[in-house]
Amino acid sequence: MAIIVQKYGGSSVADADKIKNVARRVAATKEQGNDVVVVVSAMGKTTDNLIALANEITDQPSDREMDVLLSTGELVSSTIMAMALREMGHPAISLSGAQAGIRTSTKYSRAQILSVDAERIEKEFTKGHIVIVAGFQGITQNMDITTLGRGGSDTTAVALAVELKAKICEIYTDVEGVYTSDPRIVPDARKLKDIGYEEMLEMASYGASVMHSRAVELGELYQMPIQVAASHNSNPGTIIHGGTPMEISNKVRGIAHDMNVAKITVVGVPDKPGVATSIFEPLTEAGISVDTIVQNSSIGRIADLTFTVNKNDIDKAMKVVEPVVKAIGAESCESDTKLGKVSVIGSGMQSAPGYASTMFKCLFEAGVNIELITTSEIRITCIIAEDKVADAVRALHKAFELETA
Ligand code: ASP
Ligand code: MG
Repeated sequence: MAIIVQKYGGSSVADADKIKNVARRVAATKEQGNDVVVVVSAMGKTTDNLIALANEITDQPSDREMDVLLSTGELVSSTIMAMALREMGHPAISLSGAQAGIRTSTKYSRAQILSVDAERIEKEFTKGHIVIVAGFQGITQNMDITTLGRGGSDTTAVALAVELKAKICEIYTDVEGVYTSDPRIVPDARKLKDIGYEEMLEMASYGASVMHSRAVELGELYQMPIQVAASHNSNPGTIIHGGTPMEISNKVRGIAHDMNVAKITVVGVPDKPGVATSIFEPLTEAGISVDTIVQNSSIGRIADLTFTVNKNDIDKAMKVVEPVVKAIGAESCESDTKLGKVSVIGSGMQSAPGYASTMFKCLFEAGVNIELITTSEIRITCIIAEDKVADAVRALHKAFELETA
Protein backbone atom coordinates (compact mmCIF):
# COMPACT_ATOMS: atom_id res chain seq x y z
CA MET A 1 0.00 0.00 0.00
CA ALA A 2 1.43 3.36 -1.01
CA ILE A 3 1.33 6.40 1.24
CA ILE A 4 0.21 9.66 -0.33
CA VAL A 5 0.31 13.06 1.35
CA GLN A 6 -2.08 15.65 -0.03
CA LYS A 7 -2.14 19.30 1.00
CA TYR A 8 -5.07 21.63 0.34
CA GLY A 9 -4.57 25.39 0.55
CA GLY A 10 -6.86 27.92 2.20
CA SER A 11 -8.81 28.79 -0.95
CA SER A 12 -9.49 25.07 -1.59
CA VAL A 13 -11.17 24.67 1.82
CA ALA A 14 -12.75 28.14 2.04
CA ASP A 15 -16.34 26.96 2.71
CA ALA A 16 -18.40 23.84 3.44
CA ASP A 17 -19.01 23.03 -0.24
CA LYS A 18 -15.31 23.27 -1.05
CA ILE A 19 -14.49 21.07 1.94
CA LYS A 20 -17.00 18.46 0.72
CA ASN A 21 -15.42 18.62 -2.73
CA VAL A 22 -11.95 18.05 -1.25
CA ALA A 23 -13.30 15.21 0.90
CA ARG A 24 -14.56 13.46 -2.25
CA ARG A 25 -11.10 13.72 -3.82
CA VAL A 26 -9.44 12.41 -0.67
CA ALA A 27 -11.92 9.52 -0.50
CA ALA A 28 -11.17 8.59 -4.12
CA THR A 29 -7.44 8.46 -3.35
CA LYS A 30 -8.13 6.21 -0.37
CA GLU A 31 -10.42 3.97 -2.44
CA GLN A 32 -7.58 3.43 -4.92
CA GLY A 33 -5.87 1.54 -2.10
CA ASN A 34 -3.57 4.20 -0.64
CA ASP A 35 -2.92 5.30 2.90
CA VAL A 36 -3.70 9.01 2.85
CA VAL A 37 -2.55 11.94 4.98
CA VAL A 38 -4.28 15.22 4.25
CA VAL A 39 -2.68 18.48 5.39
CA VAL A 40 -5.01 21.47 5.41
CA SER A 41 -4.51 25.23 5.60
CA ALA A 42 -6.91 27.47 7.45
CA MET A 43 -10.20 28.17 5.66
CA GLY A 44 -10.01 31.12 3.23
CA LYS A 45 -8.78 34.31 4.87
CA THR A 46 -8.98 32.93 8.43
CA THR A 47 -5.31 33.58 9.27
CA ASP A 48 -5.51 37.21 8.09
CA ASN A 49 -8.71 37.67 10.09
CA LEU A 50 -7.13 36.26 13.24
CA ILE A 51 -4.17 38.61 12.86
CA ALA A 52 -6.55 41.55 12.40
CA LEU A 53 -8.48 40.49 15.50
CA ALA A 54 -5.31 40.43 17.61
CA ASN A 55 -4.37 43.87 16.26
CA GLU A 56 -7.69 45.25 17.44
CA ILE A 57 -6.62 44.35 20.97
CA THR A 58 -2.95 45.27 20.93
CA ASP A 59 -0.15 46.61 18.72
CA GLN A 60 2.29 44.17 20.25
CA PRO A 61 0.67 40.79 20.77
CA SER A 62 2.90 38.27 22.53
CA ASP A 63 4.58 35.93 20.06
CA ARG A 64 3.51 32.91 22.04
CA GLU A 65 -0.17 33.85 22.21
CA MET A 66 -0.11 34.82 18.55
CA ASP A 67 1.10 31.38 17.49
CA VAL A 68 -1.56 29.60 19.53
CA LEU A 69 -4.18 31.94 18.07
CA LEU A 70 -3.09 31.35 14.46
CA SER A 71 -2.81 27.59 14.95
CA THR A 72 -6.56 27.49 15.60
CA GLY A 73 -7.32 28.29 11.93
CA GLU A 74 -5.89 24.96 10.81
CA LEU A 75 -7.54 23.12 13.71
CA VAL A 76 -10.93 24.26 12.45
CA SER A 77 -10.34 23.14 8.85
CA SER A 78 -8.85 19.79 9.88
CA THR A 79 -11.74 18.85 12.17
CA ILE A 80 -14.36 19.92 9.63
CA MET A 81 -12.55 17.91 6.94
CA ALA A 82 -12.54 14.82 9.17
CA MET A 83 -16.27 15.27 9.76
CA ALA A 84 -16.92 15.60 6.02
CA LEU A 85 -15.09 12.34 5.34
CA ARG A 86 -16.90 10.47 8.12
CA GLU A 87 -20.19 11.79 6.79
CA MET A 88 -19.29 10.16 3.47
CA GLY A 89 -18.63 6.87 5.24
CA HIS A 90 -14.85 7.10 5.41
CA PRO A 91 -13.19 6.64 8.80
CA ALA A 92 -11.04 9.72 9.33
CA ILE A 93 -9.36 11.43 12.25
CA SER A 94 -7.95 14.93 12.64
CA LEU A 95 -4.67 15.60 14.43
CA SER A 96 -3.11 18.90 15.47
CA GLY A 97 0.52 19.44 14.48
CA ALA A 98 1.57 18.43 17.98
CA GLN A 99 -0.51 15.23 17.88
CA ALA A 100 0.98 14.42 14.48
CA GLY A 101 4.43 14.52 16.09
CA ILE A 102 5.79 17.72 14.55
CA ARG A 103 8.53 19.02 16.85
CA THR A 104 9.88 22.48 16.20
CA SER A 105 12.38 25.06 17.37
CA THR A 106 11.20 27.77 19.76
CA LYS A 107 11.17 30.61 17.21
CA TYR A 108 7.56 31.72 17.36
CA SER A 109 5.97 32.68 14.02
CA ARG A 110 8.81 31.12 12.03
CA ALA A 111 9.65 27.90 13.81
CA GLN A 112 11.76 25.27 12.07
CA ILE A 113 10.73 21.63 12.08
CA LEU A 114 13.34 19.70 14.09
CA SER A 115 11.85 16.23 13.79
CA VAL A 116 8.67 14.36 13.00
CA ASP A 117 7.55 11.40 15.07
CA ALA A 118 5.08 9.63 12.81
CA GLU A 119 4.10 6.90 15.28
CA ARG A 120 0.58 8.23 15.87
CA ILE A 121 -0.13 8.62 12.16
CA GLU A 122 1.11 5.08 11.49
CA LYS A 123 -1.13 3.77 14.27
CA GLU A 124 -4.12 5.47 12.65
CA PHE A 125 -3.20 3.87 9.31
CA THR A 126 -3.38 0.42 10.88
CA LYS A 127 -6.96 1.24 11.90
CA GLY A 128 -7.75 2.16 8.31
CA HIS A 129 -8.11 5.85 9.10
CA ILE A 130 -7.55 8.74 6.74
CA VAL A 131 -5.44 11.17 8.78
CA ILE A 132 -6.11 14.90 8.52
CA VAL A 133 -3.29 17.02 9.92
CA ALA A 134 -3.58 20.71 10.80
CA GLY A 135 -0.87 22.42 8.73
CA PHE A 136 1.53 25.24 9.59
CA GLN A 137 2.10 24.27 13.24
CA GLY A 138 4.12 22.20 15.63
CA ILE A 139 5.17 22.01 19.23
CA THR A 140 8.38 22.77 21.12
CA GLN A 141 10.06 20.53 23.63
CA ASN A 142 8.31 22.58 26.35
CA MET A 143 4.91 21.84 24.81
CA ASP A 144 4.41 25.36 23.48
CA ILE A 145 2.58 25.64 20.18
CA THR A 146 4.49 27.25 17.31
CA THR A 147 3.73 28.19 13.72
CA LEU A 148 6.04 27.77 10.73
CA GLY A 149 5.60 31.13 8.98
CA ARG A 150 2.98 32.27 6.49
CA GLY A 151 2.27 29.63 3.88
CA GLY A 152 3.86 27.00 6.14
CA SER A 153 1.33 24.22 5.52
CA ASP A 154 3.28 23.26 2.38
CA THR A 155 6.27 22.62 4.62
CA THR A 156 4.17 20.51 6.99
CA ALA A 157 3.05 18.39 4.05
CA VAL A 158 6.53 17.78 2.64
CA ALA A 159 7.98 17.04 6.11
CA LEU A 160 5.28 14.41 6.74
CA ALA A 161 5.77 12.92 3.27
CA VAL A 162 9.50 12.58 3.93
CA GLU A 163 9.06 11.01 7.37
CA LEU A 164 6.37 8.59 6.15
CA LYS A 165 8.37 7.73 3.01
CA ALA A 166 5.35 8.68 0.95
CA LYS A 167 5.25 7.97 -2.77
CA ILE A 168 4.53 11.62 -3.50
CA CYS A 169 3.51 14.87 -1.83
CA GLU A 170 0.62 16.45 -3.71
CA ILE A 171 -0.02 20.18 -3.23
CA TYR A 172 -3.51 21.21 -4.34
CA THR A 173 -4.17 24.89 -4.79
CA ASP A 174 -6.08 27.43 -6.89
CA VAL A 175 -3.56 27.32 -9.75
CA GLU A 176 -3.12 24.34 -12.05
CA GLY A 177 0.63 24.09 -11.70
CA VAL A 178 3.86 25.93 -12.42
CA TYR A 179 3.83 28.01 -15.58
CA THR A 180 6.61 29.20 -17.86
CA SER A 181 5.65 32.69 -16.67
CA ASP A 182 2.86 34.48 -14.82
CA PRO A 183 -0.25 33.79 -16.97
CA ARG A 184 -1.73 37.14 -15.87
CA ILE A 185 1.11 38.87 -17.74
CA VAL A 186 1.80 36.37 -20.52
CA PRO A 187 -1.50 35.00 -21.90
CA ASP A 188 0.23 32.12 -23.73
CA ALA A 189 2.31 31.00 -20.74
CA ARG A 190 2.44 27.21 -20.70
CA LYS A 191 1.98 24.83 -17.79
CA LEU A 192 5.16 22.82 -17.23
CA LYS A 193 4.88 19.02 -16.94
CA ASP A 194 7.85 19.00 -14.64
CA ILE A 195 10.52 21.25 -13.18
CA GLY A 196 13.68 20.67 -11.11
CA TYR A 197 13.82 21.69 -7.43
CA GLU A 198 16.51 24.29 -8.11
CA GLU A 199 14.59 25.77 -11.00
CA MET A 200 11.44 25.87 -8.88
CA LEU A 201 13.28 27.65 -6.08
CA GLU A 202 14.53 30.28 -8.50
CA MET A 203 11.03 30.64 -9.96
CA ALA A 204 9.55 30.96 -6.47
CA SER A 205 12.04 33.38 -4.97
CA TYR A 206 11.83 35.47 -8.11
CA GLY A 207 8.14 36.01 -7.81
CA ALA A 208 6.31 32.88 -8.96
CA SER A 209 4.64 32.42 -5.59
CA VAL A 210 3.11 29.00 -6.14
CA MET A 211 4.67 27.21 -3.19
CA HIS A 212 6.48 27.93 0.05
CA SER A 213 10.21 27.91 -0.76
CA ARG A 214 11.07 26.06 2.44
CA ALA A 215 8.86 23.19 1.31
CA VAL A 216 10.68 22.96 -2.02
CA GLU A 217 14.05 23.05 -0.22
CA LEU A 218 12.94 20.22 2.04
CA GLY A 219 11.74 18.25 -0.99
CA GLU A 220 15.13 18.71 -2.63
CA LEU A 221 17.05 17.71 0.50
CA TYR A 222 15.17 14.39 0.74
CA GLN A 223 14.40 14.01 -2.97
CA MET A 224 10.66 13.88 -2.31
CA PRO A 225 8.69 14.37 -5.53
CA ILE A 226 6.08 17.13 -5.20
CA GLN A 227 3.12 17.62 -7.49
CA VAL A 228 1.41 21.00 -7.73
CA ALA A 229 -2.11 20.83 -9.19
CA ALA A 230 -5.55 22.42 -8.98
CA SER A 231 -8.08 21.33 -6.38
CA HIS A 232 -11.05 22.33 -8.59
CA ASN A 233 -10.35 20.03 -11.56
CA SER A 234 -8.34 16.91 -12.32
CA ASN A 235 -6.00 18.29 -14.98
CA PRO A 236 -2.44 17.05 -14.60
CA GLY A 237 -0.30 19.52 -12.65
CA THR A 238 3.46 20.06 -12.51
CA ILE A 239 5.84 17.58 -10.88
CA ILE A 240 8.79 19.08 -9.04
CA HIS A 241 11.57 16.52 -8.86
CA GLY A 242 15.29 15.95 -8.92
CA GLY A 243 15.82 14.07 -12.14
CA THR A 244 15.96 16.31 -15.19
CA PRO A 245 15.57 14.80 -18.64
CA MET A 246 18.99 14.23 -20.22
CA GLU A 247 18.34 16.60 -23.11
CA ILE A 248 15.56 19.06 -22.57
CA SER A 249 14.69 20.67 -25.86
CA ASN A 250 14.31 24.14 -24.41
CA LYS A 251 16.96 24.86 -21.80
CA VAL A 252 15.10 27.90 -20.51
CA ARG A 253 12.26 26.72 -18.27
CA GLY A 254 10.65 29.96 -17.32
CA ILE A 255 10.70 33.73 -16.97
CA ALA A 256 10.17 35.03 -13.44
CA HIS A 257 9.62 38.61 -12.39
CA ASP A 258 9.37 40.72 -9.28
CA MET A 259 8.00 44.26 -9.09
CA ASN A 260 9.19 44.81 -5.54
CA VAL A 261 12.75 46.07 -6.01
CA ALA A 262 14.51 49.17 -4.69
CA LYS A 263 18.14 50.09 -5.26
CA ILE A 264 20.69 51.94 -3.15
CA THR A 265 23.95 53.20 -4.64
CA VAL A 266 26.78 54.35 -2.44
CA VAL A 267 28.84 56.70 -4.60
CA GLY A 268 32.58 57.27 -4.22
CA VAL A 269 33.41 54.46 -1.85
CA PRO A 270 37.13 54.37 -0.94
CA ASP A 271 38.62 51.15 -2.30
CA LYS A 272 40.05 49.55 0.83
CA PRO A 273 39.42 46.44 2.93
CA GLY A 274 36.51 46.47 5.38
CA VAL A 275 34.29 48.91 3.54
CA ALA A 276 31.73 46.37 2.33
CA THR A 277 31.34 44.85 5.77
CA SER A 278 30.81 48.25 7.38
CA ILE A 279 27.86 48.76 5.01
CA PHE A 280 26.30 45.30 5.09
CA GLU A 281 26.78 44.34 8.72
CA PRO A 282 24.46 47.08 10.05
CA LEU A 283 21.89 46.11 7.40
CA THR A 284 21.95 42.51 8.62
CA GLU A 285 21.61 43.69 12.20
CA ALA A 286 18.58 45.74 11.18
CA GLY A 287 17.05 42.58 9.69
CA ILE A 288 17.09 43.93 6.13
CA SER A 289 17.74 41.32 3.52
CA VAL A 290 19.90 42.47 0.65
CA ASP A 291 19.50 40.85 -2.73
CA THR A 292 21.66 41.82 -5.70
CA ILE A 293 25.03 43.43 -4.88
CA VAL A 294 27.26 44.98 -7.52
CA GLN A 295 30.51 46.89 -7.02
CA ASN A 296 32.30 48.33 -10.02
CA SER A 297 36.07 48.09 -10.23
CA SER A 298 37.67 51.20 -8.88
CA ILE A 299 39.10 54.04 -10.89
CA GLY A 300 41.58 56.07 -8.85
CA ARG A 301 40.85 53.90 -5.78
CA ILE A 302 37.22 55.05 -5.65
CA ALA A 303 34.33 52.66 -6.44
CA ASP A 304 30.52 52.71 -6.53
CA LEU A 305 28.60 50.05 -4.66
CA THR A 306 25.01 49.24 -5.56
CA PHE A 307 22.60 46.81 -3.96
CA THR A 308 18.90 46.07 -3.97
CA VAL A 309 16.39 45.55 -1.17
CA ASN A 310 12.67 44.95 -0.90
CA LYS A 311 10.73 48.20 -1.54
CA ASN A 312 9.15 48.04 1.92
CA ASP A 313 12.63 48.13 3.47
CA ILE A 314 14.00 51.13 1.56
CA ASP A 315 13.40 53.83 4.20
CA LYS A 316 14.81 51.67 6.95
CA ALA A 317 17.81 50.74 4.76
CA MET A 318 18.59 54.37 3.88
CA LYS A 319 18.51 55.28 7.58
CA VAL A 320 21.06 52.54 8.25
CA VAL A 321 23.33 53.39 5.31
CA GLU A 322 23.42 57.21 5.52
CA PRO A 323 25.56 57.43 8.69
CA VAL A 324 27.87 54.69 7.34
CA VAL A 325 28.49 56.72 4.17
CA LYS A 326 29.92 59.57 6.31
CA ALA A 327 31.89 57.20 8.54
CA ILE A 328 33.71 55.47 5.67
CA GLY A 329 34.37 58.67 3.76
CA ALA A 330 32.17 57.89 0.76
CA GLU A 331 30.68 60.71 -1.30
CA SER A 332 26.92 60.14 -1.08
CA CYS A 333 24.15 57.60 -1.36
CA GLU A 334 21.12 57.55 -3.62
CA SER A 335 18.03 55.41 -3.86
CA ASP A 336 15.64 54.41 -6.62
CA THR A 337 12.37 52.70 -5.76
CA LYS A 338 10.79 52.37 -9.19
CA LEU A 339 12.49 49.14 -10.17
CA GLY A 340 11.65 45.54 -10.86
CA LYS A 341 13.49 42.50 -12.10
CA VAL A 342 13.14 39.85 -14.74
CA SER A 343 14.93 36.51 -14.69
CA VAL A 344 15.50 33.80 -17.26
CA ILE A 345 15.69 30.43 -15.48
CA GLY A 346 16.76 26.96 -16.56
CA SER A 347 19.22 24.38 -15.29
CA GLY A 348 20.15 23.50 -18.88
CA MET A 349 21.68 26.96 -19.35
CA GLN A 350 24.84 26.10 -17.40
CA SER A 351 26.24 23.99 -20.18
CA ALA A 352 25.19 26.10 -23.13
CA PRO A 353 26.48 29.57 -23.99
CA GLY A 354 24.52 32.38 -25.61
CA TYR A 355 21.57 32.77 -23.25
CA ALA A 356 22.81 36.03 -21.76
CA SER A 357 23.34 37.64 -25.14
CA THR A 358 19.88 36.50 -26.32
CA MET A 359 18.37 38.05 -23.19
CA PHE A 360 20.19 41.38 -23.55
CA LYS A 361 19.39 41.65 -27.26
CA CYS A 362 15.74 40.91 -26.58
CA LEU A 363 15.53 43.61 -23.89
CA PHE A 364 17.31 46.10 -26.16
CA GLU A 365 14.82 45.42 -28.96
CA ALA A 366 11.95 45.85 -26.51
CA GLY A 367 13.36 49.27 -25.56
CA VAL A 368 14.22 48.21 -22.02
CA ASN A 369 17.25 49.70 -20.28
CA ILE A 370 19.19 47.31 -18.04
CA GLU A 371 20.25 48.84 -14.71
CA LEU A 372 22.02 45.87 -13.17
CA ILE A 373 22.78 42.28 -14.15
CA THR A 374 23.34 39.30 -11.87
CA THR A 375 23.62 35.62 -12.60
CA SER A 376 23.65 32.26 -10.88
CA GLU A 377 24.43 28.95 -12.56
CA ILE A 378 20.83 28.52 -13.64
CA ARG A 379 19.55 32.12 -13.78
CA ILE A 380 20.24 35.46 -15.45
CA THR A 381 18.55 38.44 -13.80
CA CYS A 382 18.25 42.01 -15.04
CA ILE A 383 17.09 44.88 -12.84
CA ILE A 384 15.00 47.23 -14.97
CA ALA A 385 12.41 50.00 -14.60
CA GLU A 386 9.26 48.76 -12.87
CA ASP A 387 6.96 50.01 -15.63
CA LYS A 388 8.88 47.95 -18.22
CA VAL A 389 8.66 44.63 -16.38
CA ALA A 390 5.48 43.32 -18.02
CA ASP A 391 6.72 44.16 -21.53
CA ALA A 392 10.09 42.63 -20.77
CA VAL A 393 8.54 39.39 -19.50
CA ARG A 394 6.38 39.06 -22.62
CA ALA A 395 9.30 39.80 -24.95
CA LEU A 396 11.57 37.27 -23.20
CA HIS A 397 8.86 34.60 -23.15
CA LYS A 398 8.65 34.99 -26.91
CA ALA A 399 12.39 35.25 -27.55
CA PHE A 400 13.02 31.95 -25.74
CA GLU A 401 10.03 30.32 -27.49
CA LEU A 402 8.42 29.26 -24.25
CA GLU A 403 4.90 29.14 -25.68
CA THR A 404 5.88 25.96 -27.51
CA ALA A 405 7.09 22.90 -25.62
N1 ASP B 1 -2.83 29.55 7.21
C1 ASP B 1 -1.44 29.92 7.11
C2 ASP B 1 -1.32 31.16 6.25
O1 ASP B 1 -2.28 31.67 5.74
C3 ASP B 1 -0.59 28.80 6.63
C4 ASP B 1 -0.89 28.29 5.24
O2 ASP B 1 -1.85 28.67 4.61
O3 ASP B 1 -0.09 27.49 4.75
O4 ASP B 1 -0.23 31.64 6.06
MG1 MG C 1 -2.17 29.84 2.45
